[in-house]
Amino acid sequence: RPERQRKPDWIRVKAPTSKMVAETRALMRAKNLATVCEEAACPNMGECWSKKHATVMILGDTCTRACAFCNVKTGMPRALDPMEPQHVADVAIQMGLEHIVITSVDRDDLPDGGAEQFVKVIRALRDQAPNTTIEILTPDFRNKHERAIEMIVDARPDVFNHNLETVPRNYPTIRPGARYYASLRLLETVKKLDPSIFTKSGIMLGLGEERLEVHQVMDDMRSADIDFLTMGQYLQPTPKHAKVQEFVTPQGFDAYAAVARAKGFLMVASSPLTRSSYHAGDDFAKMKAA
Ligand code: SF4
Ligand code: SF4
Repeated sequence: RPERQRKPDWIRVKAPTSKMVAETRALMRAKNLATVCEEAACPNMGECWSKKHATVMILGDTCTRACAFCNVKTGMPRALDPMEPQHVADVAIQMGLEHIVITSVDRDDLPDGGAEQFVKVIRALRDQAPNTTIEILTPDFRNKHERAIEMIVDARPDVFNHNLETVPRNYPTIRPGARYYASLRLLETVKKLDPSIFTKSGIMLGLGEERLEVHQVMDDMRSADIDFLTMGQYLQPTPKHAKVQEFVTPQGFDAYAAVARAKGFLMVASSPLTRSSYHAGDDFAKMKAA
């Protein structure tokens, strides 16, 4: 049986034990919602949940794809929950969220890829929690791309996030169901349709990518007018998932951040424990105030 890989000292993780963590978990279960924090076994759960920051996962908890880095369950998903938009709004209100991140599993089985449910969630939040800013982190809507994007852009989230996850050379092994340029084009389309929406993307480091490949991804993102960039260390959720090829040092992350800032991103988050939604609300508020 394969062994867990040893993590370096700079990846220190607080165990998720606070009262707020228990309360958040109870609220999510009561509202029948999954969180990516739990499903992806995110190392920041202790910190984020103590600060009332969680990333809600809509469209159920079962994904139609099976990316080599991801801990989300794969299989045949259940029918959509019509109460989901209301439940997300309930969570935003009850937790008093200033910023909410909504993500989803990939639903290649649905005719619109789940776009309409994103729209309903955004509308429920706008109606009932008008002071909460909304960040969505979407799948790539393979083959339904144009229409799905138009629908969601029309609903006007504040931030439209879609992760490129890794350098294009790694796609066949790490993100086999997706296409690098299709993901880039998705974000480019969002910006063209509505330049007032901030676009955001992220990659994981430590999957065998070369420095120049990472710089190339940054250039590709800037060519697609992507505003925000996140970079974090890939961690193997279980021994069955893709192996970590390298633990990039904190200084290595800083060096990448400096390059990214010079390339013109409005916001760059880069550290071993950075995740797509880590400090998303704080970063967005700072960016808006700047
Ligand atoms: Fe995980 Fe998203 Fe890949 Fe599904 S599409 S396996 S949720 S990363
Ligand atoms: Fe959840 Fe994102 Fe925080 Fe991880 S970084 S615990 S996924 S909010």
